[in-house]
Amino acid sequence: MTLTLVTGASALVTMDNADREYVDGALAFRDGVLLAVGSQAELAALRDVADTVIDARGGVITPGLVNTHHHLYQSLTRALPGAINTSLFGWLKRLYPIWARYRPEDVFAATQLGLAELALSGCTLSSDHFYIYPDGVRLEDTIAAAQGLGIRFHATRGSMSVGESAGGLPPDSVVEREDAILNDCIRVIDAFHDPADGAMVRIGVAPCSPFSVSRELMRDAALLARDKGVMLHTHLAEDADDVAFSLERFGCRPGQYAQELGWVGPDVWHAHCVQLDAAEIELFAQTRTGVAHCPCSNCRLGSGIAPVRQMLAAGVPVGLGVDGSASNDSGHLLNEARQAMLLQRVIGGAEAFDPRAALRMATRGGAELLGRQDCGVLERGRRADFVIWPVDEVATLGSWDPVAALVLAPPAGPRDVYVEGRAIVRDGELVQVPRAEVKHAARASLAYLMESA
Ligand SMILES: [Zn+2]
Repeated sequence: MTLTLVTGASALVTMDNADREYVDGALAFRDGVLLAVGSQAELAALRDVADTVIDARGGVITPGLVNTHHHLYQSLTRALPGAINTSLFGWLKRLYPIWARYRPEDVFAATQLGLAELALSGCTLSSDHFYIYPDGVRLEDTIAAAQGLGIRFHATRGSMSVGESAGGLPPDSVVEREDAILNDCIRVIDAFHDPADGAMVRIGVAPCSPFSVSRELMRDAALLARDKGVMLHTHLAEDADDVAFSLERFGCRPGQYAQELGWVGPDVWHAHCVQLDAAEIELFAQTRTGVAHCPCSNCRLGSGIAPVRQMLAAGVPVGLGVDGSASNDSGHLLNEARQAMLLQRVIGGAEAFDPRAALRMATRGGAELLGRQDCGVLERGRRADFVIWPVDEVATLGSWDPVAALVLAPPAGPRDVYVEGRAIVRDGELVQVPRAEVKHAARASLAYLMESA
C-alpha cells in the first residue's frame, strides 16, 4: 500500500517505445507496480504524499537487467583445470563427472551464489537452464535459492537422454529416461509456473541440446510446452562442431532441425546461435524465435561471434545471457552488455553497435525474449524492477553521457536493485540473504566437490 518515490537521478532510461530518457529522473511505485515515471519536476507533487522517498543523486536509473541464459549450478565449477583451454565438447566431457556428484544442497548453494552475483551486477530477472539431475536433485533446489534472494526467476526443466553408449556426448550415468523427464516437466509446471503479471517464478521446458537428447524428446517437449502454455529453451548452433554434428547426425542444419521439431515461434528462445546462416536468421525473424546472445561465453570457448546486428536488423528478438559460470567464468551481466557491443564493433566497425543498443538488449530485449510484457521497461503499469547505478564513483566519474557510460565506463556494480518494488541490493549489499551466508554455503559445497574429485 505504501507509495515510494525515487528521485534526483542524474538520468533515467525508460526503454519505452519513444526511447525516453529523463535528466533529473524520478519514478514512483506502489504494490510492486510503477505509478509514474518522468522528470523530478513532473513527479514533484508526489513528494508530499509519498511514504518513502529514496534519493538517487549521483545515480542513473535503468530497468533491471535480464539474464536469458545461465546454468547456475555451474557456479561451483569455474576456472577448472582441464577445462580452461578446451572448446565446447572437450570442456563438457571434463565437467560431466563432477556435475554428476552434486547433491541437492550443492545445487542450492551454486544457484544462490550465481544469482547473488547476478543481483550484484544489476540483474532483476534471470532464467536458468538446469539439465543435470543426480540422485535426489530437483528443480525446486534452484527455485528456493531465487526465492530467498528475491530475484525474479524463470527456471527451466532441462534434460539429457542420449548418453555415450547411444552416440551422445554425456556419460550414461547422467542421462535420464525420456518418460521420466516429461513427467517431471509436468510436475514442476503444475507446482511452480505462474502465468500472471508480476510472476516471480515461471517454468520452461528445456532439453539440453540436440546432441544430448533424441529427436522424439525434442518433439514431445515442444508438444508438452505448448499444451501447458510455457516456453521452450535449448542450445542451438553454438559453434562449428555443433553445426557439423547436426549435418552428420540429422542431415540438416540446426535451424532446419529446430523447425522440423516445432522449435520455432515466439514461445521459443535458443542460446548462442553463433553459427546461424542467413536463411536461419530469416526463419527466426519470420517466426519471432528468440536468441540468447552470450558474448563472453562465445569468446571464452572460441565459438565465434554471433551475427547479432544481422539478427536485430532482421527482427529476431535478442536478449543477453552470461551462460554457465563454467564457460564464462564470470556472471557480471552489465559487463556482458559491454562485451556484446565490443564484439559487434570488432566485426562491424566503431559505428556498428551503440552502447544504448547494448543496454536495450540487456533490459527490454531480454524481458521480451522471456515473454515478459510486464518487465523490462520503466513506464506506468509495469513492474517496479529497476536499478540505481552509481556514476560518481572512481570507475565512472568523468563521463559526460551518463547513460552511455554504463556500457563504456561501467561501474563495478549497482548501488540499489529493486524487484517488484522490494530492494534486493541496497548500497551495494545483498538485502534478503547476507553475503556471508551465500559464501559460506558455496564454500561448503566446493569443499565437498573437491574432496570427492
Ligand atoms: Zn549454455
